[in-house]
Amino acid sequence: MTGPAGANEPGFRESVNLMFDRAVALMDLPPGLEQKIRVCNATYTVRFGVRLRGQVETFTGYRSVHSEHMEPVKGGIRYALAVDQQEVEALAALMTFKCALVEAPFGGSKGGLCVDPRKWDAHEMEQITRRFAYELIKRDLINPSQNVPAPDMGTSQREMAWIADQYARMNTTDINARACVTGKPLNAGGIQGRVEATGRGVQYGLREFFRHPEDMAKAGLTGSLEGKRVIVQGLGNVGYHAAHFLQVEDGAIITGVIERDGALVSETGLDVEAVRAHILETGGVKGFVGAEFVEHGAVVLEADCDILIPAALEGVINLKNASYIKAPLIIEAANGPITAAANDILVEKGCVIIPDLYANAGGVTVSYFEWVKNLSHIRFGRMQRRQEEARHQLVIDELERLSTSGGVDWKLSPGFKDKYLKGADELELVRSGLDDTMRTAYQSMREVWHSRDGVTDLRTAGFLVAIDKVAQSYTAKGL
Ligand code: GLU
Repeated sequence: MTGPAGANEPGFRESVNLMFDRAVALMDLPPGLEQKIRVCNATYTVRFGVRLRGQVETFTGYRSVHSEHMEPVKGGIRYALAVDQQEVEALAALMTFKCALVEAPFGGSKGGLCVDPRKWDAHEMEQITRRFAYELIKRDLINPSQNVPAPDMGTSQREMAWIADQYARMNTTDINARACVTGKPLNAGGIQGRVEATGRGVQYGLREFFRHPEDMAKAGLTGSLEGKRVIVQGLGNVGYHAAHFLQVEDGAIITGVIERDGALVSETGLDVEAVRAHILETGGVKGFVGAEFVEHGAVVLEADCDILIPAALEGVINLKNASYIKAPLIIEAANGPITAAANDILVEKGCVIIPDLYANAGGVTVSYFEWVKNLSHIRFGRMQRRQEEARHQLVIDELERLSTSGGVDWKLSPGFKDKYLKGADELELVRSGLDDTMRTAYQSMREVWHSRDGVTDLRTAGFLVAIDKVAQSYTAKGL
């Protein structure tokens, strides 16, 4: 399988393996264990027919299970015409290491269906999705305790709701049915903040990077996110949320947006919200008023900026363009946007790459919260909130007693009691849990980056931390 730059470059799965090999060479794993962790356990391929518009259409789908050192295994389902076995296996491997790095207690899996979601209407997509889900549910490849999918490229809350409902119909006595899939709409057992989670994770990851001057210096950057010039490739769910939050909450300037039909550039900054609205209305960025349109969008990857955020497809930075990339800092919001060969060129040039297995882990982190919420059958954090409120009540009672006991010259300020009493709601808890996860995982990577001999980049550091955790699981429980 050749990669994006043709025969000179390995494909996606090989690229992930090369990155794995680089990290594992610096470790001292027992013989054989290394190979066990590298290989993909199984990939199920299904071909099924659906009667659509008067004729039978055949679809091909996959669910790949990379590692079952922890169960359930976890990972999204992608809908795209380019889906194939090697892509799904590469993505499943990345899920294993992503979950390990952020300590989401799952093995790695991924699914894909060769379909162009824009070709079919909602009712047709429902028929296709339910049929695909049926095939996977029958084989326990969708199951709350064994394999829990989520949205990915081309899928969203809508598909997850159909999958959850399909599972519930086929497993009427399973009280945990809702936990069979994450990324569901709120009214179908979803959790607040899941839609934006991957984009938020990118923002929190960048914020954490900018808390470490030593790391920033490696990319030749100083200061804060405020005023940094950012180019984003792909204004889908992940790219849009990342760009929007960085612009609105951190004062970053979005100087470029690359989409399917071309790119927009503006030195003074693009209004992400307005660009997104234009894309939703017209299907592309062409015709957007107030910015320069570049027909061949991919060249904008090579434009001058402080931070480049590839948030679309794998392999977009490869042997052909790596040496022209000017960004000193790249954060991989997509899975696998930089090939192994391109990675070497960029690292050699001094570019700092915040790798996918960390950068886009916000999605699966909040999926984990959703899964826990579904299994506990209670609103996320409700127990903690009750406890927190009870503790706060004790403090308030004591303060009120003191303030009325005489001999003190202070009073509680108006509003303080209500403000202090109210515990965090679900969205606040999700956000702080995600922030905490992104900070901790970054720190575990940077520690290895700065202290381990032979570790030249954050990706190798991330793989090292993740592989070590997977190896520990296998060693503890046996193969
Ligand atoms: N598809 C997302 C990913 O690549 C989310 C996976 C999940 O939530 O399980 O990480």
